[in-house]
Amino acid sequence: MRIVLLGAPGAGKGTQCKRIVARYGLMHLSSGDILRQERAAGTELGQKAQNYMDSGALVPDDIIVKMMASAIKKTPEAGLILDGFPRTVNQAVALDESLACNGRRIDAVLNLRVDDPVVFERLTGRRSCPQCGAVYHVKNLKPKVDGRCDNDGAELIQRSDDSREVVTNRLKTYRLQTKPVVDYYKKNNTVYDIDANEDADHVASLVFENLDALVSV
Ligand code: AMP
Repeated sequence: MRIVLLGAPGAGKGTQCKRIVARYGLMHLSSGDILRQERAAGTELGQKAQNYMDSGALVPDDIIVKMMASAIKKTPEAGLILDGFPRTVNQAVALDESLACNGRRIDAVLNLRVDDPVVFERLTGRRSCPQCGAVYHVKNLKPKVDGRCDNDGAELIQRSDDSREVVTNRLKTYRLQTKPVVDYYKKNNTVYDIDANEDADHVASLVFENLDALVSV
């Protein structure tokens, strides 16, 4: 089973991926997480990606396609959920071509739909732990001690691309470059449109309703 998870920034892709992985045992590959790890490690790839990420633009297709092809190659046969990739039609075509070479395809596409005010509220209030990656929210998911991670006490940080200005750019980029990917998949794949404006539990129940029919739990 190979699933692509699409949605604007702040749609809850990362949150839903964790739940999907826990329920179906799929391998989670997030292009944003891989890029952040590359940056933290100071690699050449991380340095190349830095300015694009900080301004809310997309990292060029050739860099991303190469990075994700290598990550996908390392995944077991069991199954895969792709989060944040593909984000352009060129990336989607490259992914289809590389899967087809091995007789594989994308089995389902989940499209999380969310309204802009919800995106701003979620992203500008998001805080995360630099050590364990746990995610919090200043209003909706507060840590037990203000500003500190419940797991390891580390000081929580705000992602540099979660400022209002950069979120505005990320939404523009999404509309221009990533929305067409939904239409691309609608031509040849099963696409499930999911209302992702409500809380994470509710969205997960909608996701599971669709995926239970496809994946054996
Ligand atoms: P995310 O964590 O998925 O919101 O990604 C954070 C940033 O990483 C994005 O704003 C882009 O700059 C970059 N990025 C992540 N995935 C991709 C992709 N598939 N194509 C191009 N840039 C990406």
